[in-house]
Amino acid sequence: MGQFSLADILSKSSYLVCLTGREMMVEDGIDSMRDMKTAYEIELKYGYSPEEVFSAQFFSTRPEQFYEFYRSEVLAQAKEPGKAYGALAALEKTGILKCVITRQLFNLEKRAGCQNVYNLHGNIYENNHCPRCGRIYPMDYMKKGKVPLCETCGVPVHPGVVLLGEMVEIGKITRAADEVSKADTLLILGSNMRTEIVQQFIKYFQGDRIVLINAASHFADREADYCLYGKIADYLGEVLQELKQKPTEKKG
Ligand SMILES: [Zn+2]
Repeated sequence: MGQFSLADILSKSSYLVCLTGREMMVEDGIDSMRDMKTAYEIELKYGYSPEEVFSAQFFSTRPEQFYEFYRSEVLAQAKEPGKAYGALAALEKTGILKCVITRQLFNLEKRAGCQNVYNLHGNIYENNHCPRCGRIYPMDYMKKGKVPLCETCGVPVHPGVVLLGEMVEIGKITRAADEVSKADTLLILGSNMRTEIVQQFIKYFQGDRIVLINAASHFADREADYCLYGKIADYLGEVLQELKQKPTEKKG
């Protein structure tokens, strides 16, 4: 792999697409229920695994327990997007980054200012809806009562996230896959090459370069062309500094 300039690679890209993973949130101090230790603690606390509780079946049969979990393990984790997300938004503004695809639930990319974001599994802020009449409720409403009920129908409001056992909107996946197939460079942030989001989309990639930045190395990283380890915010921050000093040449 040797020495390379991330700024060079990214600025030469004519269609950069980014996949963001869990470790990017962890960098901002957002814990995840998929974390081994957290999963164990959750099982002790609720008597069920995170996968069982965060499912469509659990939501429909035990809404009170579901919402206890959803509030304390998911909503309580909501934080402002950190520097790495801000850097992504800045990279999009330069015109280099075309879109971001994620399965994380906190809408951090959009809240940091990214315009083109595929939140494949939805997010906690948007589309909290009544499954019967479709009425939309804001995130704060999800904290009301033991279970937030639709004011019209009286049924539990469904959070704006995709639960296990539910289908991800197929059109959304198709559009995201289409973006990946157009990319000449794929930027993978906070994920190794074996996570579900990478496995889901890597097959559509027909470009030249895969750049991966993650907290720590993984045996499958050799499938990427360039790897960097450490804080994503620092690497992207440096890239933006370099781009400022040496404006991107117009491609024609
Ligand atoms: Zn309703």
